[in-house]
Amino acid sequence: MPAEKGSGPRVTIVTAFPEFFGDFLSTSILGRAVKNGLVHVELVNLRDFGRGGYRQIDDYAFGSGGMVLAAPQLQDALNEARKRGGGKRPFVVYPSPQGPLLTQEIVETLAQQEHVVILCGHYEGMDERFVEREVDLEVTIGDCVLTGGEIPAMTIVDAMSRLVPGVVGRGEAVAEDSFYRGMLDHPHYTRPASWEGMEVPPVLLSGNEAEVLAWRRSQAVERTLSRRPDLLARAAIGDYLSAGACLAVSSPEGESRASLAALSALCRVYGLGRPFLMAGDPERRRKLSDESAGLEPAPKIAGGWARVLEWVRRRNGGDRPPLIVEILSRPEEGALHGLEVKRRCLEWGGPVLFHLSGDPEEGRQPVEGEVLLTSLTREPEDLPLEVRAAIALDRFLGKR
Ligand code: SAM
Repeated sequence: MPAEKGSGPRVTIVTAFPEFFGDFLSTSILGRAVKNGLVHVELVNLRDFGRGGYRQIDDYAFGSGGMVLAAPQLQDALNEARKRGGGKRPFVVYPSPQGPLLTQEIVETLAQQEHVVILCGHYEGMDERFVEREVDLEVTIGDCVLTGGEIPAMTIVDAMSRLVPGVVGRGEAVAEDSFYRGMLDHPHYTRPASWEGMEVPPVLLSGNEAEVLAWRRSQAVERTLSRRPDLLARAAIGDYLSAGACLAVSSPEGESRASLAALSALCRVYGLGRPFLMAGDPERRRKLSDESAGLEPAPKIAGGWARVLEWVRRRNGGDRPPLIVEILSRPEEGALHGLEVKRRCLEWGGPVLFHLSGDPEEGRQPVEGEVLLTSLTREPEDLPLEVRAAIALDRFLGKR
């Protein structure tokens, strides 16, 4: 992660046991990345800053207890680490059982920093005054206690390295891995196709790329929902919807060109194709058509639901009608929590259509397909249509 190469942050590990890192930094994928200059990790030996003939780095805990790494020595080592990074303020991480759990989001945040310093604790830990003043993030690798911060430091460096382009062979493998999009990965198999009476799922031997992809997605969905439903809140589900998603807006007649442009842009960003605009009055449809001239993707303008549903069927294919997610501007009886909406979108076998209306008084049309109601806020809101659309799409499809 060399700052000078612009491919990721420089990492400096402060440790009293640098010998832990020899094999780690020279073996397998990480070893290759270090050798090729894709990953830049350096060590600062805390003992170099020890005091006295024994190079003491710790002392007895006040009030009895074990040994604690002492603040002055830690400070000197941190100053040295800072110097290595060119003197700029680094992002200082202290792996500790008392921080929040290390997640992919935290790893991605660390990978965005220019210089990360990881401080390895030992014994009872570090003098709290030093931690309070110097540490930006305490982070645990699990609800268990290890003897030192070296293995957590390796965990952090390893996870950060996978995000540096070129470190992991096949680029897209990283994006398919668990947690990258907030979902678990699908299962993997290799030869032999038949092993001790157990067969590889036949679809993987079919050579049909589209079917393999669909199977992998459905496996990832099934696994995530059954094993780690708690991940849903973090998941960007857009890539896991079996027949894609689209956006329909009814009664957008009061909307300006800027607002229609924003709706088009949202459809582009979230990969929803052309937005569908609905207006019953032909004169309003003509106005919508004039206002949206030249927008990319160009809105498709319809008089009502029947036309829109036909377009969705043609565009997204499949026999299933769309699951309609109705974004309400006020809470209503029967409305679902956003997480429940996400779960049902993932389980639905057909397209998902997000629908907003520019007229809060407009009665909902009886439409083909299942309709889920959800509101963005606990109180009625009168946000501009494109803002509501942006919040809704980010909430359900948002890429991290
Ligand atoms: N007295 C500390 C406590 O109970 O919170 C535990 C200290 S632990 C024995 C020594 C060092 O190991 C810690 O300072 C920390 O750097 C590291 N460590 C231990 N467990 C860890 C975990 N789950 N995650 C991250 N670091 C850990």
